[in-house]
Amino acid sequence: MAKKTVRDVDVSGKRALVRVDFNVPLDKKGEVADDTRIRAALPTIKYLMEHKARVILMSHLGRPKGAVDERYRMDPVARHLEKLLGAPVRKADDCVGEEVQRAVQELAEGQVLLLENVRFHAGETKNEEGFARRLAELGDIFVNDAFGAAHRAHASTQGVAEFLPAVAGFLMEKEINMLGQVLGSPAKPFVAIIGGAKISDKIGVIDNLLDKVDALLIGGGMANTFLRARGVNVGNSLLEADKVELAGKLMRKAKAGGVELQLPVDAVVAPAASPDAEHKVVGVQEIPPDGMVLDIGPQTVQNFTERIKGAATVVWNGPMGVFEMEPFAGGTLAVAKALAESGAVTVVGGGDSAAAVQKAGVADQITHISTGGGASLEFLEGKELPGVAALQDK
Ligand code: ADP
Ligand code: MG
Repeated sequence: MAKKTVRDVDVSGKRALVRVDFNVPLDKKGEVADDTRIRAALPTIKYLMEHKARVILMSHLGRPKGAVDERYRMDPVARHLEKLLGAPVRKADDCVGEEVQRAVQELAEGQVLLLENVRFHAGETKNEEGFARRLAELGDIFVNDAFGAAHRAHASTQGVAEFLPAVAGFLMEKEINMLGQVLGSPAKPFVAIIGGAKISDKIGVIDNLLDKVDALLIGGGMANTFLRARGVNVGNSLLEADKVELAGKLMRKAKAGGVELQLPVDAVVAPAASPDAEHKVVGVQEIPPDGMVLDIGPQTVQNFTERIKGAATVVWNGPMGVFEMEPFAGGTLAVAKALAESGAVTVVGGGDSAAAVQKAGVADQITHISTGGGASLEFLEGKELPGVAALQDK
């Protein structure tokens, strides 16, 4: 069901407590190294500023263990946000307590305050009611724009929503709409491409998508386990021996459901996963005993590209090979380009897959690149995300 957003409530003069995902990488100097996540939250922040809300932002950063950790203070984020907004951003030294309440009281309409890392308190990840209440005291409404944290039932994502009217920000809205649309009412033919290292990470995603897609294309390390289930010898490749049976079961499910399931027909192999290793293309029946499959081969790229061309909706999660190394990046980059060139609605989920699309230089030609790694996977598994479930229905 559709969720209420900031547009559905009166924010003027209100204290808007906004959960954002500012869990950004920091460089050696402690400055923001990649501001994608901060930029992704700007539309919501700007909307609230323009509509005269008092904007109180909160996020986690890194994994402090429920106590103050100087490495994970939000100050560099506040400085960076200030630059992006071109407006002052106040910064509190905690996220609850009297001093924070005073800072909130002093906040004028349209002004922005960034609270300290919510994970400096153990109550955050434990979703303690007392801590959630203390956060809730700071706001009149709760806005959740942190899709990347929505799969966690924490105090700042779920608990706080029990005590305040809770609505989605624009990023959250876009994620729910796009992912919800491809799972709920995808234009057909619907093709899913799944890759990455291991089946065990993606069982739920494959299982759920098999009920919805017309074709499932499997690449990456996990394809080895499927190939093994078909009796192929995959040499020294990454293989989950205890998942071969499951792979067989998923293939039978595909067949029973009339889903076309494609595996690689050729592969780039090398004796080791190293950029200097001598590599070659072989058919999957000719994988040498000491060889490792590290990318899909050119014939597989062509097969997958053909299928993507004919699709109306494409979902992609998981690289086709060890794309971090140039000799094994070809298959992944080719799939990214095929998505970009197709006229289909294209949705990419997963942190590494999103990075691959950036690397291929086609990010602006993809309909939607999910900002949530774990959250988008859980969404594709068909799970209800606690941070989403807690928001008010329209
Ligand atoms: P995402 O973050 O998009 O969900 P994953 O984390 O599941 O993707 O998978 C990405 C990882 O899978 C990459 O680090 C990549 O090197 C690895 N990978 C892909 N293909 C292979 C392969 N054939 N052998 C070993 N690792 C692989
Ligand atoms: Mg990953």
